[in-house]
Amino acid sequence: MWNTVKNRLHLITGPCSAESEEQVHTIARQLSEKGLVDTFRAGVWKPRTRPGTFEGVGEVALSWLADVQRDYKLRASIEVANASHVELALKYGINNFWIGARTTVNPFYVQEIADALANTNSTVLVKNPIHPDAELWSGGIERIQKSCGEKVGAIHRGFSSFQTSQYRNIPRWEIPIELKRRFPDLFLVCDISHIAGKRSLLHEVAQKAIDLGITGLMIETHPNPTAALSDANQQITVEGLQHIIDTLVQKTSGITDATFLNQLEELRAQIDKIDEDILNAISSRLNLTKEIGTYKKENNVTVFQLNRWNEILETRGENGKKLNLDNAFVHKLYETIHAESIRLQTEVVEQKLPR
Ligand code: PEP
Ligand code: MN
Repeated sequence: MWNTVKNRLHLITGPCSAESEEQVHTIARQLSEKGLVDTFRAGVWKPRTRPGTFEGVGEVALSWLADVQRDYKLRASIEVANASHVELALKYGINNFWIGARTTVNPFYVQEIADALANTNSTVLVKNPIHPDAELWSGGIERIQKSCGEKVGAIHRGFSSFQTSQYRNIPRWEIPIELKRRFPDLFLVCDISHIAGKRSLLHEVAQKAIDLGITGLMIETHPNPTAALSDANQQITVEGLQHIIDTLVQKTSGITDATFLNQLEELRAQIDKIDEDILNAISSRLNLTKEIGTYKKENNVTVFQLNRWNEILETRGENGKKLNLDNAFVHKLYETIHAESIRLQTEVVEQKLPR
């Protein structure tokens, strides 16, 4: 599978952090000898959650990366979090950057970086903000696009959550899918390392990304992962990386088989019809809701009725079960419908309040 997958994938590999000149050179050499790097990543300034942990070696690493670019004919990419990071990196001939998740959350920082990037011919990938907000992610991309035009892409690195999860950052695949809908031509990379958080989950996250049509992977690699100064649990050796890439399966997207395409079209047409029916049904349901809202108002009854809500959840959950629908899904669906019903009924009440 190696060739088909590799041919279509852009690999951004290299250590979480540049730690020493020797470490940077060793991993760059190993990656380039195996052809497992298109862009070499290394963190120079590290955004760490707690102070007192390793925060990157800073400017000295820029000269190591400049050497890597020269010796291995690689593009090096670093994280920048403010204008002075950009200015310093450019002095060393580094003009490939990514914006970290903790920076994308703040439009002031992103704008400052965008201003520093103007007319620098830089390439920039914008990581998603730490919370699942496609709007904020889009805004960050648009700010950078104003300075860098087409040389802007995005990195999906998952989202932090209070929910317990096997992942370090929950993928929430619907968010990068929404981003792709908004920016169809955007180059989108999946940072499987920061989603997985541990080596054992890297392969399945990479496969899922590929199944969704993502054509770039960011993967943290280190000559001696367990001794890494940051993110030791998720970094892998070049051999580990080779194994992952070798065992990924490419799903075809450029399908030419006519029978398959016809069948796909047929199934899609059925789905289109069902979606139309769903929207019609929801619209009828919400119209009834409005009627009930008026009736409640006329009889001085509160909009929210706990007993009724419990009954809806219970009966719809049971009906769903009979249809093999996941209970949590049905619950979520009705929460959304119910929230809209309450909103419409409150509107009815407000319209009737004297001004
Ligand atoms: C990183 O890529 O090393 C990093 C710090 O990423 P993130 O901003 O996704 O946490
Ligand atoms: Mn890291």
